[in-house]
Amino acid sequence: MIEESPGLNTRLLHADIDRTPYGETSEAIFLTSGFVYDSAEQAAATFLGEAQHYQYSRFGNPTTDALQRRLAMLEGAEACIVTATGMGAVSSALLSHVKAGDRVVASRALFGSCHWIVANLLPRYGVETIFVDGGDFDGWTEALSKPAAAVLLESPSNPMLDVLDIARIADLAHKAGALLMVDNVFASPLGQKPLAFGADVILYSCTKHIDGQGRVLGGAVLGRKQWIEETLQPFTRNTGNALSPFNAWVLLKGLETLPLRVAAMARNAAAVADFLADAPGILRLRYPGRADHPQADLAARQMSDGGSLVAFEVDRGKEGAFRFLDALKLIAISNNLGDARSLATHPATTTHMRVGAEERARLGITDGVIRLSVGLEDTADLIADLRRGLAAL
Ligand SMILES: *Cc1c(COP(=O)(O)O)cnc(C)c1O
Repeated sequence: MIEESPGLNTRLLHADIDRTPYGETSEAIFLTSGFVYDSAEQAAATFLGEAQHYQYSRFGNPTTDALQRRLAMLEGAEACIVTATGMGAVSSALLSHVKAGDRVVASRALFGSCHWIVANLLPRYGVETIFVDGGDFDGWTEALSKPAAAVLLESPSNPMLDVLDIARIADLAHKAGALLMVDNVFASPLGQKPLAFGADVILYSCTKHIDGQGRVLGGAVLGRKQWIEETLQPFTRNTGNALSPFNAWVLLKGLETLPLRVAAMARNAAAVADFLADAPGILRLRYPGRADHPQADLAARQMSDGGSLVAFEVDRGKEGAFRFLDALKLIAISNNLGDARSLATHPATTTHMRVGAEERARLGITDGVIRLSVGLEDTADLIADLRRGLAAL
């Protein structure tokens, strides 16, 4: 429909729109579990793969397909499969790819449930798993000196926002014969393009920035067409990790405003980080967009902005963190992130409660650490609220 090559904002609104004869402005929702055939012959031909027809929404649905095409276009990936949740995307990507006897190498600082899959689930099925500190190149080299099936990493990491060198790790992964899978949730599809640095599989929780308005759960796996069709798709179709067409439609609406929202959130996050970095009572602060971030140069090469998350440590440990959080009036206490509303959480007692004190210490998650997901409020109002937190310290 569009002849010239339009920009990303235009494509997120107009590319590949599949309108019904009613000519609706917004995509229709095909909220149906199944599909009917004109004839028994057509049903038989569909099952043989000789006729193009939808069969059942666990296998495919026009609304979820529209979301898959839009996400693949945004990522610059050959193919995409959407799943019921972000964890559905991570678990399906790993479980469809590995078999007993394989090795999986992962960065240590992972989202809690991703860590659980690598640490607890995969070993139950005979997969050997190894964790490496994200910035430890000797560790990556050592772990990948033997063949591996997959490498899973998250950058920036949750919650301390370490930035990992995707290109360097991709190189080691490929030499070991592994696919590099990158959980790109914290950066969002606009903030970082792991495919350009050699990653093979990109994972999203669409629950975060892609919906970004606190409404639905969803996930996505992106990668090469052959891997998606031959390895991942048989797994997701037969194990039932399907996204509801309704949720797919909500996420399609989210994509229309994603570039605007993530750009505004990153601007707000940068301002908030600058304010907090100089504030009394803040012991340390991490924001990938600041020059004092431990991997600032890498972040500048690998990311197009600093993202919407800020991590900082307040004085007086857990007591200080609780006082800070409880004094906030605008910023809500919530473990979600990437939302239009700013949300703050205390990782040591929530998202990272189960990883244990020793592992938290290793990851730099002290009792005073607060993770802030910066939303779309007016910057001055956010800063006024953070002043309340600081005053309570
Ligand atoms: C939220 C999140 C997930 C899991 O996504 P769900 O949609 O909650 O299942 C995975 N990785 C990261 C980095 C996340 O933030």
